[in-house]
Amino acid sequence: MALLVQKFGGTSVASVSHIQKVAERIIAAKAEGHDVVVVVSAMGEQTDTLDALAREVDFYEREARREIDVLLSTGEQVTIALLSMVLMKLGCAAKSYTGGQIRILTDDAHTRARILEVETQNLRADIEANIVPVVAGFQGVNERGEITTIGRGGSDTTAVALAAVLKADECQIFTDVEGVFTTDPRIVEGARCLERITFEEMLELASLGSRVLHSRAVEFASKYQVPIRVLSSFGQSAGTLITNEDPKMEQPVISGIAFTRDEAKLTVLGVKDIPGIASRILGPVSDANIEVDMIVQNVAADKSTDFTFTVRRDDYQEAMDILKKVAKDIDAREVSGDNKIAKLSLVGVGMRSHAGVATRMFRILAKESINIQMISTSEIKISVVIDEKYLELAARTLHTAFELSVENGNLA
Ligand code: ADP
Ligand code: ASP
Ligand code: MG
Repeated sequence: MALLVQKFGGTSVASVSHIQKVAERIIAAKAEGHDVVVVVSAMGEQTDTLDALAREVDFYEREARREIDVLLSTGEQVTIALLSMVLMKLGCAAKSYTGGQIRILTDDAHTRARILEVETQNLRADIEANIVPVVAGFQGVNERGEITTIGRGGSDTTAVALAAVLKADECQIFTDVEGVFTTDPRIVEGARCLERITFEEMLELASLGSRVLHSRAVEFASKYQVPIRVLSSFGQSAGTLITNEDPKMEQPVISGIAFTRDEAKLTVLGVKDIPGIASRILGPVSDANIEVDMIVQNVAADKSTDFTFTVRRDDYQEAMDILKKVAKDIDAREVSGDNKIAKLSLVGVGMRSHAGVATRMFRILAKESINIQMISTSEIKISVVIDEKYLELAARTLHTAFELSVENGNLA
């Protein structure tokens, strides 16, 4: 008998008949003797619908973020109630909980809060009483009891956080694909479902844009050693297990390709090449809570530099407004930007012991006449920024060239 946390994503609970199927899965796990704690997302595209309403209001000041959280969190509240009712109808005791009712405590950063603590009292009492707790994903409360949300896709993180505090045997993320693939199977036809992948690789893939798991969920799982399994809500296959690296197993050079369109690039041109400039440019940006991703600075012959960095596309306008002020203060020539870029990354722990992957990647992209605008590397990943319109072509070409559809095909 195991303790399982089972999380069901939006597509899996898109209608009452979908919810009925989910309830049957939960009941089947109970029938096998397991204790189950459930986390759910909003139904279908409900969070997008709510987000679109907020955008219609067209008010983006900082104080709007508190209200956006109140709005977006309603989606999950609908699902917890419906699933609990369906479970009860099918004879399985169940009880719904919002983030506040459990007391999933987060910090104050509305729309992108971090989970700090999870109380387990209600959950343990329910498990003891053979009741299935059905918890709203994606939401929590801050110290003052105000509703917060933890970033789009965050229900995965809620599930792993619950699994961590309850010391569950496995956190099962049920979704609309069979598991974690070598790349997004909706974009690249030959993508292959992986049997297992390391926390380290999954963390890179998730934070570089593979939507299949929220990156903070993988971070938590690795920190608290919670095995995650990603599997289909509709199929019966074993899915993908995410665990520690097995030193006995040979690792493929590349495990997967991640990409994201959620990027924008800003450049301050003609900046004086003197100490302290980077912090004077990026300080005000980070003070506004805008995360900076890649940074490139190069010195021209006349001792001035161009300073380029990327931010989330949603933050582009705010970052641009800040930079225009900064540029005046530091006497820079001008600010330019491009929000039609994409970032594509190759990820694999096998890269540690294989040189030349980057050169090979650049050669393949050059053959397709795809220009690389920025590059960043770490021990197990290579990322490039390219024009958004070439993203799919780049992903397909690299997937084929690195033979990712063939198991261990890229070892050579
Ligand atoms: P859920 O609503 O269940 O949380 P998501 O839409 O957040 O589901 O995540 C599942 C989607 O992630 C898939 O439909 C797929 O298009 C996308 N995806 C991106 N990269 C990958 C990958 N490497 N493996 C599997 N799915 C991926
Ligand atoms: N419903 C939220 C979203 O669509 C959270 C989640 O599904 O994980 O982003
Ligand atoms: Mg998701």
